[in-house]
Amino acid sequence: MAKFVYKPKRTKEDVEREMQNSGFSESYLKENILLFSPKVDASNRIRILPPTWDDARIYGLNIWVHYKVGADNATVLCLKKNLGKPCPVCEAVAKENDPEFKKNLSPKRKILTYVLDRQDEKLQPRAYLMPTTVHQSILAQAVDEDTGEPLIIEDPDKGYDIILVTAGTPEGTVVKFTYKSVSLSRRESPICTDPDLYDKIIDFIVENPLPQIIVFKDYDYIEALLYGKATKHEDEVINKVEEEETQTNTSDEEVVRDELVSMGRKELIEIAVGQLGFGMKEVKNLSEEGLRTLIRENAEISEAEEEKPKVKKVNVDDIRKKWGR
Ligand SMILES: [Zn+2]
Repeated sequence: MAKFVYKPKRTKEDVEREMQNSGFSESYLKENILLFSPKVDASNRIRILPPTWDDARIYGLNIWVHYKVGADNATVLCLKKNLGKPCPVCEAVAKENDPEFKKNLSPKRKILTYVLDRQDEKLQPRAYLMPTTVHQSILAQAVDEDTGEPLIIEDPDKGYDIILVTAGTPEGTVVKFTYKSVSLSRRESPICTDPDLYDKIIDFIVENPLPQIIVFKDYDYIEALLYGKATKHEDEVINKVEEEETQTNTSDEEVVRDELVSMGRKELIEIAVGQLGFGMKEVKNLSEEGLRTLIRENAEISEAEEEKPKVKKVNVDDIRKKWGR
């Protein structure tokens, strides 16, 4: 009989990775969707996959999320910000005076993207709720310095990997980690070099475009979840570790509001398009008041939801050096 001595080597990190790979997804996504959560105190190398729905201008989908809903700390998609419908969580936030409650439960804007985790041997596409600050840092760096044109980092054949460095936060902090830096790989590369796997990855994201994998719960369900009346769903067992710190700064919001009143149409459009990233098509038919509402809602959000990560400052010389220009 063969002598077998078992020496378990499993670490806490192994367990966490397995848990992430377990195939569970959050209740705001269809069940067949895997999640990407950056590992903490680590350098995470990911590849953003291209969008696979019509009229996509960017690799991700803007979505609004409520974290920490109810006793289960559930994550739900905001019905108001995403669909313009009544949202029980937003209503609770409006009624509540406790700043902590408001901070935790106000809707947060995220960029939902598909990514490959380079440490995942199977290279399965995973959904990643990217913080807007990470998104902005990527966009700021993904520029061809010679032409000023954006680098298409999500190009499946000659895009760029992204390196996310995270750092854990002290015990007891609401946020589990922060992003220390976000950088682009120096070299362009394909998503993978195995043609079969390449096709498998692309097939998956074509068959499951992001707009079709998000799941909206109805008002009653979310309300019950919020006030602890809902029974726990199987697909809500995993609590996502990635919940970014939020900073609500009421005084800044007030300043934004007051300034807007004195602005004309041209200035308002400039803000909406230049600073908030709306398309000219989206804003050109709005009235001045409509523009103000749009800006207020989005300015409010960017104030409220930015987690102020320690994102690396973008230095043009660094980028040039990086790419040998
Ligand atoms: Zn809401």
